[in-house]
Amino acid sequence: MQPDKTEAQKWAKELLSQMTLPEKVAQLMQISCQHMSMEDVEMWVRDRAVGSVLHAVGEDALKVQRWALQSRLKIPVLYGIDAVHGHALHNGAQVYPSPLAMACSFDAELLEKVARATAMEVAEDGIHWTFSPLLCLARDTRWGRVGETFGEDGYLAGEMGAAMVRGYQGKDLQDDGSIMACAKHYIAYGEANGGRDSYDAQISMRKVRETFLPPFKRVIEEGCASVMTAYHAIDGTPCTANHEILNQILRSELGFDGLLVTDWDNVRSLVTKQLVCETFEQASKATLETTHDLIMYSTEFYDATIALVKEGALAESVLDDAVMRMLLIKYRIGLITNPKKVRTEQSAAYQYIGCEAHRRLGEEASEKSIVLLKNNGVLPLNADESIFLTGPNADDELATLGDWSFFTHPCPDFSRKPKDTIYTLRRGLQAISANFTYRKGCDLEGCTPQQLEEAILEAKKASVSICVVGDGFYQMGEHYDRSDLSLPESQRKLLETLKENGNKLIVVLLASKPLCLDWAKEHADAIVCLFNPGQQGGLAFADMLFGKTQPEGKLPISFPRNAGQIPVYYNQLPGWHAIHYCDLPKGPLYTFGDGMSYTTYQYSRLTLSSDCAKEADTITVSVDVTNTGSRDGTEIVQLYIHDRVASILQPVLSLKDFARVQLKKGETKTITFRLPIQKLAIVNAKECTVVEKGMFDIYAGPSADITKLLCAPLKVE
Ligand code: BGC
Repeated sequence: MQPDKTEAQKWAKELLSQMTLPEKVAQLMQISCQHMSMEDVEMWVRDRAVGSVLHAVGEDALKVQRWALQSRLKIPVLYGIDAVHGHALHNGAQVYPSPLAMACSFDAELLEKVARATAMEVAEDGIHWTFSPLLCLARDTRWGRVGETFGEDGYLAGEMGAAMVRGYQGKDLQDDGSIMACAKHYIAYGEANGGRDSYDAQISMRKVRETFLPPFKRVIEEGCASVMTAYHAIDGTPCTANHEILNQILRSELGFDGLLVTDWDNVRSLVTKQLVCETFEQASKATLETTHDLIMYSTEFYDATIALVKEGALAESVLDDAVMRMLLIKYRIGLITNPKKVRTEQSAAYQYIGCEAHRRLGEEASEKSIVLLKNNGVLPLNADESIFLTGPNADDELATLGDWSFFTHPCPDFSRKPKDTIYTLRRGLQAISANFTYRKGCDLEGCTPQQLEEAILEAKKASVSICVVGDGFYQMGEHYDRSDLSLPESQRKLLETLKENGNKLIVVLLASKPLCLDWAKEHADAIVCLFNPGQQGGLAFADMLFGKTQPEGKLPISFPRNAGQIPVYYNQLPGWHAIHYCDLPKGPLYTFGDGMSYTTYQYSRLTLSSDCAKEADTITVSVDVTNTGSRDGTEIVQLYIHDRVASILQPVLSLKDFARVQLKKGETKTITFRLPIQKLAIVNAKECTVVEKGMFDIYAGPSADITKLLCAPLKVE
């Protein structure tokens, strides 16, 4: 049941009228339990009645809520946490594959289920809010946070994000097992120049609207109750102080009336890092005037904002608007109406955290995230195959889980290890009693002669070597942008050694992002991409290896041949001379949508319900897909469009829809997509969204490789 809006308004107004100026200011602040002593937290929560807290789990979270209920007005505290692929900061909860890995499934239903299960675990800890989904697009893959994204495409990110919002928020945010979602980081955060996190994005507002806004628009339509602004600046204006993207686009055009939170310490960074404000007063004012309701961590905001109002430099009405929104959110998510949401005591035993059903869902998610990029017939392996498993990430728990887990946040601590519940690939093979030996072979960035000698010995004895290459904690996430995406020398050397001395070679990429696999593409017998496959990654891998399941995922992101070729995202603009580099073959190593399975598919009979349409029409696009191989399977069918001539450069292809289709061997199905002509709209030079008349190409097929797509023309009148 949705909360009664009039009741909520009445309650919030009444409460606001009782609040002192410092209490109002504190209500707009979020403090961190990890970066303050618990004595300070107690002071902020009980004495100053701060509105929100982040990163407290277990008993700490409950203690903080008890303090909140002892404050003068007893307003419950709103808890936030980064539960971005499961309630993963809680050691013992279920950790799903990274968002990038899960996006390989192109399975919105799966993501909704994962988000729902995550919500149940988060809520069980008395936490109300996750800072997810992340809707930034990973177009410069040197950026450290690629693994947190759903890849390079805005349509896919919007669909995956919307599914997660449905899962987190459930039917009713007031329900015990529902938590508030947060769309972040608003906006174009992945586009910072040079792939450098939190730097300046030198892009136009037209580009923002055309490329980066759609996924945010999509999740706001889905009811996403909160948004987080991004660290970086757009053409010199920090997002935190950017009227155009916040007041104008987010609040006014998209009509977003939920909670707007800054990213970590962004008020302070306006003064100390981005240098656009001289004082904390100026920074606090700028942040409030851009309609933020919650200030993450910058404690200077407190004194500064009180001073601003006292001096008359900030109208109290601006503050009141924000406090009202904050209170209404608390009401909307049940903090005022559902006592179960204000948890102060631990329940007897966890019912959902790390439960069996969520472990099984984790395995399904890991299975569906696997992408097979090359297979010369070596996979699936025969049951009697003798395997040599090697590589720096074959038995690495942290890399198996990826960023934003209890290893990495809030403070990195690699000693926290629930060993029995993380299935690295080594543990996955052990679990099915595969015939294998294991040696690490090399470290992420170094190897000893002894490691290589051992690898040679074992490779010679085995019928197949599986080498698991990738990256590690200090190469992924915030602060870890990379200039070079090649495999480090040590890993390359190990691969070459195995090739020279072993029989068959399977290369597995277990990494936060696409790394350059040019050598593997040329020399390996098979390449499997797992990204960070999550807690059951090893189990899913072992089943896939021997053909109990089959790889079904497709890439949500393109692979460069080398870092100098970036950007290689599929939806490039048409170019003249410079569409490729003279020292590299044309195009990416693997493109968006690529992925094979153990069966094969054929596309035929692309048909439009009409070859001519008007702006208000919806046509249907049908295509036949036949499973031409020897196994039943699921194919991910993709629908793209291309605007032949437009007033402004348009991508050579744009994804507009996709579907997962189950096909028995030999079976043919007709897949039908609805295509509202509105989906062909562009953002023109005046920043207006318009459908321009003219000819379009409508494509359907297995990936963004244009040579594999069927095409039909459509005239828009
Ligand atoms: C990240 C956010 C995250 C926040 C809270 C920031 O550093 O950019 O994505 O939600 O910290 O942990």
